[in-house]
Amino acid sequence: MAWRYGERHFSTIFFGILMLLQTLVVLTRGLLAVFYGGAQVNLTSIGPFQSIYLAAGHFMVLLLAVSFKAVATRRLQTILERRSTLDPLTQVLNRRGFADIYAKEHALLRRESTAMTMLSIDLDYFKKINDCHGHATGDRVLVDVAAVIGKALRVSDHVARFGGEEFIVLLPTTGLDRAHHIAERILLAVREPGRDGLPTYTVSIGIACQTSADEDLDGILMRADEALYSAKERGRNRIEIASMPIPPLRAVPA
Ligand code: GH3
Ligand code: MG
Ligand code: MG
Repeated sequence: MAWRYGERHFSTIFFGILMLLQTLVVLTRGLLAVFYGGAQVNLTSIGPFQSIYLAAGHFMVLLLAVSFKAVATRRLQTILERRSTLDPLTQVLNRRGFADIYAKEHALLRRESTAMTMLSIDLDYFKKINDCHGHATGDRVLVDVAAVIGKALRVSDHVARFGGEEFIVLLPTTGLDRAHHIAERILLAVREPGRDGLPTYTVSIGIACQTSADEDLDGILMRADEALYSAKERGRNRIEIASMPIPPLRAVPA
């Protein structure tokens, strides 16, 4: 476990050192028996190596049990942490996981004064898909749209499912032009008919670009959602761009 999942954590390092010590002691004992005869490792006669071997054997059982449990607990903790940030159906980020990622990208924006762009993507008439083809097919469509969105993105981009049939994409260090290009790619890829025997469906996309660290997650989400609603109002299966936020008024020095 320590080798396979080897995280750099106290429990793994402690466990590794114990295993190494135990191996060294047993190996030395074996070599002593081969080269110097059984008398050297006879536990009934007193000698320095016998003492080391007995002491190590005594403590190792306890220490190995404790550290094995620590490694297993640590592994479980990592799995649970991962699960708590992922959407179980589509395996993309959930709201909580997305908020953590956004906080990191927001800090980067503050430091490096770049731009990042958010896409708010919602399936069109999804309720009809559920009603006509069943909830299970609806679920498969959700998994499919997450996969299609993922394929259109770079490894540095992030996608999340915000409950229901709404997906949010965060494009770090990306301005409006490039984001619009990516949104078009998603729009076209999604409406390709006949993927995996699924019904044909479309999405609407709202785009909001953030260039100032003064705006927070709620602010940019609200703008992206407003653009999404306007895409819905204008007929769906289309992209709309949000206007930039109005900067707060600053007092002019007298
Ligand atoms: P619009 O084009 O205006 O977005 O219409 P819509 O039908 O997509 O939107 P509406 O909000 O009316 O319906 C969303 C539906 O999504 C209703 C709900 O049953 C369904 N839904 C929400 N979560 C899930 C899910 O996890 N699985 C499935 N299969 N359906 C879901
Ligand atoms: Mg919808
Ligand atoms: Mg919706």
